[in-house]
Amino acid sequence: MRLRSSRSCGQTRARGYAAARVSSEAFLPLPAPNALSRSRAVRLLEAKLGPSKVLCDGAGLEQYVTDDSGFPGVVPDAVVLAEGPDDILRTLAIAQETGVPVTPRGAGTGRTGGATPIVGGIVLALVGMRQILEIDRNEGLAVVEPGVVLADLQHAVEREGWFYPPDPNSAASCVLGGNVAENAAGPRALKYGPTRDYVLGMDAYLMGGTRLAVGRRTRKGVTGYDLAALLVGSEGTLAVVDKLVLRLVPKPEHVLTFSLQFSRIEHAVLAVTRLAARGCVPRCAELLDAATLEVMRSAGNPVSTAARAMLLLEVDGSEAACEAQAEQVAACAEEVHALEVLAAQSENQRSKLWDARRQMSYAVRRTARHKISEDVVVPRQRLRELLSGVQRLGETHGVRALSYGHAGDGNMHVNFFWDDDEEKRRVDDAVAELFRLTVSLSGTLSGEHGIGALKAPYLPLEQHDDLIALQRDIKRVFDPSGLLNPGKIFPTTHQAC
Ligand SMILES: Cc1cc2nc3c(=O)[nH]c(=O)nc-3n(C[C@H](O)[C@H](O)[C@H](O)COP(=O)(O)OP(=O)(O)OC[C@H]3O[C@@H](n4cnc5c(N)ncnc54)[C@H](O)[C@@H]3O)c2cc1C
Repeated sequence: MRLRSSRSCGQTRARGYAAARVSSEAFLPLPAPNALSRSRAVRLLEAKLGPSKVLCDGAGLEQYVTDDSGFPGVVPDAVVLAEGPDDILRTLAIAQETGVPVTPRGAGTGRTGGATPIVGGIVLALVGMRQILEIDRNEGLAVVEPGVVLADLQHAVEREGWFYPPDPNSAASCVLGGNVAENAAGPRALKYGPTRDYVLGMDAYLMGGTRLAVGRRTRKGVTGYDLAALLVGSEGTLAVVDKLVLRLVPKPEHVLTFSLQFSRIEHAVLAVTRLAARGCVPRCAELLDAATLEVMRSAGNPVSTAARAMLLLEVDGSEAACEAQAEQVAACAEEVHALEVLAAQSENQRSKLWDARRQMSYAVRRTARHKISEDVVVPRQRLRELLSGVQRLGETHGVRALSYGHAGDGNMHVNFFWDDDEEKRRVDDAVAELFRLTVSLSGTLSGEHGIGALKAPYLPLEQHDDLIALQRDIKRVFDPSGLLNPGKIFPTTHQAC
């Protein structure tokens, strides 16, 4: 149904970077096990886990060299196909004993090289641990193994009248262990928050094989440090996680989805801030810029040729609450001169809108040989400056750029494209400048994809040496030998900055 047709119808935090020098304290050395240790580790793994759970021949190992980012890793010496907690325990014990690094891995949909084995060693693949162990209707919680596919959990709890809100657009393939390690978010984080808000507890396995029950099953708890919160988003660098205890919320009674088209991106951004100012918090507010709409059109989606920006808004709650929010959306759209507002009238129409959004990442990827998708966040009020800055960067560096993403919480996926090495160098410069711009707008380098290996060299742009050193000390407490997922989060060389 066509609801309405209007018109035609700061202070920089880059102190570490401003100082332009990061002390060597900020850098973590990479472990370098020798050939003897590696082959001993493989032999022990085969002996203690059984050869069927240990891949150690060339062809099978290749698929574990990188993740969705394409960040180049080193072919691992072995991949452990874990089927249960004992496999995690034994792998970490053998790794410690032989001094060989371990890279935990979920579905490999990560976008920063987090599951990439930077120095080879052992990849601990957890997708085989895919049982939903419990859905407790009375307590409103679920307990899952780390290899459960997110969409499977969402469907299972919704059948029980509950709702698990985190919804990265990779929901059909990513798994809960990876979500917890990355503190994954997605469109619905605007209203419901990221994964961290739903993790009550877990079993954490430290390098060497110690198992710790971290957190709790209760909704409240202030017993000791909140280590469960620390492990969420730690990118597999502190512990391997299993038996995740996840909080559920009642399934919303109604959902309404709108698509708004605009002749100027400024109007779309204004709609996001005006809605917030009215006290209306949609569960999703996804923004697509003009270049992204071009890709949508060529993929056959119905987008007006006059449109230079689109917002996908979704509200939920009781029927009355949805109606009230729909009125707010319509009034706001008129205020900011939306070209048109469409409300999905059926589940089928809703899915079509979301399918187009979810396919965006793959559709834009087809427009060049390579792309990099950054994940910066700025305060909503600074979105306009970020987006005009991205356009400027594209022009200055002569690179193709487009942006789409979770505008409601200021989190934009800025994509750069290249076909050859020369263009790649210009993209690298544009990326570094994007990060500087983001920090100067009081933003942060990653809203949901994490730092991984890809962004590690840029950490000092945002965080002071002392803060990096403190985090590095925390890493040492959990993993004194530095063997768990080395080369992630912390810079390992002096490049890039
Ligand atoms: C098309 C597409 C859309 C996406 N959209 C979104 C989005 O909207 N929002 C969003 O947040 N992300 C998004 N992502 C990124 C990605 O899907 C998420 O980061 C996801 O959480 C990664 O899960 P995974 O199972 O693939 O983890 P992997 O990529 O395998 O691993 C990610 C990190 O988790 C660690 N890890 C994995 N399992 C464990 C474990 N059991 N214990 C300890 N550490 C572990 C790994 O070492 C690695 O550092 C998208 C990716 C794609 C390809």
